[in-house]
Amino acid sequence: MLPRPAGPVARTDHRPADAPSGTAADQAHRTTTAERGAFAFARCSCGWQGPARRARDRARRDAAEHTAR
Ligand SMILES: [Zn+2]
Repeated sequence: MLPRPAGPVARTDHRPADAPSGTAADQAHRTTTAERGAFAFARCSCGWQGPARRARDRARRDAAEHTAR
């Protein structure tokens, strides 16, 4: 019995040139501050939203704590 000839093997080592590096994934959190009425709150591109604050400075600090994680 003859061994089965190996068919065309799909190469898995092909890598697109614009593939994101490992460190770029950590920059997915882009925070912004938004205001609603008299309150300000932090927002993130990942979907996170901080609590409503009476000062925008506090909201900004919430955002900083979120991205620090
Ligand atoms: Zn985030």
